[in-house]
Amino acid sequence: MIMFDPHIHMNARTTDDYQAMRQAGIIAVLEPAFWPGQTRTHVGSVEDYFLMLLGWERFRASQFGIHHFCALGLNPKEANNGPLAEGVMALLPRYLAKDSVLALGEIGYDDQTADEDRLLAAQLEMAKGLGLPALVHTPHRDKVRGTRRTLDLVREVGLPDHLVLIDHNTEETLPLVLDRGCWAGHSIYPDTKMDEARMTALVKQYGAERIIVNSAADWGVSDPLKVPKTAAVMAASGIAATDIQRIVWDNPLAFFRQSGRLEGVVLEQPPMVDQRRLHQGNSVLRGQVPQVEAEKVA
Ligand SMILES: [Zn+2]
Repeated sequence: MIMFDPHIHMNARTTDDYQAMRQAGIIAVLEPAFWPGQTRTHVGSVEDYFLMLLGWERFRASQFGIHHFCALGLNPKEANNGPLAEGVMALLPRYLAKDSVLALGEIGYDDQTADEDRLLAAQLEMAKGLGLPALVHTPHRDKVRGTRRTLDLVREVGLPDHLVLIDHNTEETLPLVLDRGCWAGHSIYPDTKMDEARMTALVKQYGAERIIVNSAADWGVSDPLKVPKTAAVMAASGIAATDIQRIVWDNPLAFFRQSGRLEGVVLEQPPMVDQRRLHQGNSVLRGQVPQVEAEKVA
C-alpha cells in the first residue's frame, strides 16, 4: 500500500527516518512551515527556512524515493510577535507562488489572541485569493472553542469549506469539522492526544470520507511511522483495505490536488533514487557509495 504523510516536519528528522518511511510505503509527504522551538529574531530566518523547504528538503526527500511538497504560512506561535509576523506576511505572496507549495499552512490559533484572529483571517483571505487550500491546526489548549472559532472564521472570510483541512482533531472536534464540510486531519502521536486505536474507532464510527491521518512528526517526541502504524491497526481491526487506502493516500491527494499544482504529476510513481545528484553542489552522502535505481526499461 502506498501512503502520503500530509503533515510532517522532515527538516527536523534524520535520513534514517526517510529510509524507514520509504520502506513502510510512504512515497509522498507534505511539510507545513513550523516554528523552530524557540523564538526567531529575524524575518530572514523565516525566509531561509521557506527556501530550505522548497530546495534542500525537497532534494533530500528525493534522495530516498519520496515526493516532497510543502505548505507555507505564518505559524500561529509567531503571530503574536509583531514585527516578525508582519515581515512573514509580506514575504508570503512571493513564496506561495512556487510550484511545490500546495497550501497555506500550518496556520491557525495558538493562544487565540486578537493578533492571531487578524492574521489568520488575512491568511485565509490569501488562500481564497489564490484558490489554494489551507492547512489549519487546532490549538492544544481550549481546543473545542478554538475549532469552532476557526470554522466560523473560514465562513466569515468565505474560503470554501472543501479547501480547508482542519488538523489535530479529537473525538470532540471531529463531528464539528465533518458537519461543516471541511477535511479532517488527525495527528497520531506516541502516548498522547490521538493514538492508533482511537483513530480506528473514529473511522468505524464516521467512515473514511474526508478523513486524513498524519504523524505531525517534528523535533519533539513524535514518530514518523505513525501513518503506516495506524493503517496496520485499522487493517487488523477489519477496516476494508479500500477505506484504509482512501485515508492514507486518496484523501490527502484529493485535498492537495485542489491547489491545481499537481496536474500531470504522477505521484503513484516514487521519484527514482539517484544519490549521485547534488543540490547546490551538496550531497546527502558522507562518502558512502551512492544508491542509484536502474531506469525501468519499457
Ligand atoms: Zn505541525
